[in-house]
Amino acid sequence: MNLILIGAPGAGKGTLAEQLVESLGTPAISTGNLLREAIRNQTELGTKAKSFMDAGALVPDALVIDMLRDRIGQPDCQNGYILDGFPRTIPQAEALDTIADITCALYLEIADDVIEARMSGRRVCPQCGASYHTVNNPTKVPYTCDKCQGKTTIREDDTVEVVRKRLVTYHAQTEPLIAYYTEQGKCVPMSAVGEIDEIHQNALAALGK
Ligand code: AMP
Repeated sequence: MNLILIGAPGAGKGTLAEQLVESLGTPAISTGNLLREAIRNQTELGTKAKSFMDAGALVPDALVIDMLRDRIGQPDCQNGYILDGFPRTIPQAEALDTIADITCALYLEIADDVIEARMSGRRVCPQCGASYHTVNNPTKVPYTCDKCQGKTTIREDDTVEVVRKRLVTYHAQTEPLIAYYTEQGKCVPMSAVGEIDEIHQNALAALGK
């Protein structure tokens, strides 16, 4: 199954993707994590992407499409994958349609004011990309990733100002994907509000699992 997770920044795509990796047995690919890794490794792609990300804007389509094409061409993606944060624009979705057969686009519905409150508690592991929340999904040991024991941090683009800009970007550039996948009969809406396990179960039900 080639699955897409669509939803605003902070809707919980990363957390749901991690759970679906366990339940579906396919890898999750987060373009945000791949870009942050490129920045950490100071690659040419990372250098080009950083200023866009810091400003809450999208990285240009051509850069992200090439990166994604390389990633889904890897052997671990042969039996399916979960895309977290890609596509984010109509041109990205059109490019994806030329290289992959998408089974379903899960649309995580959530209001902007709930997101702003949620983002203030978000913590991530820069080492493995796992995401946590100080209240809803805390690490077992404070400031320490449950998976790789890395030190959890606040993402640089999780400040209130940048979150607001990312929401504007989402509504303008990513939301049109809902109509795009609805027209293809592939968009499955579900609520992104509630307990983490409940959201996971909702997603599995929405996928007929
Ligand atoms: P995320 O971790 O998915 O919230 O992504 C963080 C940032 O990475 C976004 O605000 C964008 O600047 C950039 N980014 C991630 N995925 C994409 C994409 N598919 N297209 C363009 N920019 C992206």
